[in-house]
Amino acid sequence: MSGVTYDLVLHGDIYDGTGAPPFAGYVGVTGEVITYVGKEKITGKKEVTAPAISPGFIDIHTHSDLSIALDGRCESKLFQGVTTDVSGNCAFGPVPINRERMAEHTAHLQGMDFTGGGYKESDISWSDLNGYRAILESRGIAQNSAPLVGHGNLRIAAMGLKEGGAKGADLAKMEELLERELAQGAFGMSTGLTYVPSRYADIDELVALGKVLKKHNRVYTSHARDFDILGNDDFFGVVNEALEVGRRSGVRVQYSHASINHPDRWGMASKWTDLFADAVKKGVNACFDVYPYDASSSALTQYLPAWVQADGVDAMAQRLSDPENFARAEQDLARGWGAMQIPWQWNRVMLSATEGLLDTKAGQRIDEAARERKMTPEHLVLQLCRLGGNRVMVVLFYRTEEDMRTFIRSPHSMICSDGSAIAFKQSKALPHPRSYGAAVRALGFIGREKRDLPLETIIYKMSGKVATHMGIHDRGVIQVGKAADLVAFDPATVKDQATFTKPGQAPVGIDYVIVNGQIAVAGGVQREVRAGKVLSAL
Ligand SMILES: [Zn+2]
Repeated sequence: MSGVTYDLVLHGDIYDGTGAPPFAGYVGVTGEVITYVGKEKITGKKEVTAPAISPGFIDIHTHSDLSIALDGRCESKLFQGVTTDVSGNCAFGPVPINRERMAEHTAHLQGMDFTGGGYKESDISWSDLNGYRAILESRGIAQNSAPLVGHGNLRIAAMGLKEGGAKGADLAKMEELLERELAQGAFGMSTGLTYVPSRYADIDELVALGKVLKKHNRVYTSHARDFDILGNDDFFGVVNEALEVGRRSGVRVQYSHASINHPDRWGMASKWTDLFADAVKKGVNACFDVYPYDASSSALTQYLPAWVQADGVDAMAQRLSDPENFARAEQDLARGWGAMQIPWQWNRVMLSATEGLLDTKAGQRIDEAARERKMTPEHLVLQLCRLGGNRVMVVLFYRTEEDMRTFIRSPHSMICSDGSAIAFKQSKALPHPRSYGAAVRALGFIGREKRDLPLETIIYKMSGKVATHMGIHDRGVIQVGKAADLVAFDPATVKDQATFTKPGQAPVGIDYVIVNGQIAVAGGVQREVRAGKVLSAL
């Protein structure tokens, strides 16, 4: 290759994203594409030397669909070396949008706003993936986006907030809309079976939609229910529904954000991973993702009794304005959360976005906030949900580090954030630190400090493995012909800095981040470059 000058050359230990051990070598980039990988020295117009070079990380489970549309800088992700966010998870997608049901769509999507600012109808100006892609790319985005169709969007677009499994004309409409978005390049469809309206789906509806996905070779991702509709062993029952969709439709399955929340079951993750491995062995094409933290984050409304949440946030608010309903809701809520009625420990629940309702502040624990206001925690929670709908967000410290690390060590897992591409500076919320640190925490904490897995395996779970399972054909590994999404970092120092009380902090040890051949971050500074694309599964 002598005589050829590349636009960009990176030199260091190359982790190619396939899980193979690293080798000392060079990566040459011409335009947007990798054009050389090897041990022979090459020269470039710009040269970067770093201890380690890897593919840009692909975050398989994010909620960046609207946040990236509103702020294309993508700071929280870009500084970690995350060059592609798979968005549209947990049933909350960018598409489809039925312009005649904007109020329902807008209220629904609040559930994935981690900034506390809320989304307005005018923030959502498209109706399909082509429209979304055109708007994002014309505004300029700093990272790539690989969108899924949200099952909640599909239901709202086709049938509003109607309850029950979709049948007949409603189901046909959903299938038609799903076909349309897949034809425009969507990577698959996500369900969020604890959320309204995705939770109204029955297994037949999910299998029918799974068959559409299978026909187009796309993926089905599922945030599981908190109860078992199939009547299996209750430990693994909610996972079985996702696997059953895979079995009956043949679709590839991605089980979202594996966790064990019930205190009675803490420490049992290896039983879970054994059952998952067994299902894979028996023929289901399934993987799962996990984020490297022992706390979760969500809209507070989703922890309310199902009857309180029914028919969306407006109906919930109206229901709770009736004193009799409110009293009954208080009693039911006190029994625990979710269908498993996990006992509340209110000191384990932190408000992370409150809009200042009832003078609460992000960072307060519910027990303490309730005490100050001389009300029960249940009363405070219901008032906040009534007044703020899906805009009130909480962090739940209901998991163990041991379980999380067991999930990460499974050969069937990938590492995600379950966070969003958002700005460091947030005035209205304390977003979960996963948005700012998940990928880097996997490298530094799980890889270097805990030595749970070799670095090449951790990188594989955030690049090549994700690309293969999600059908992201043109990137995810360092190979000639692939898109030049690359990260240069130092495995000895790489470390996340984001905490629950001070999340908006850049990690250390990430030297260069390259998106589609352009240097987007160098030496801790983001450039004005907006080289990201809305990718296509076609
Ligand atoms: Zn989820």
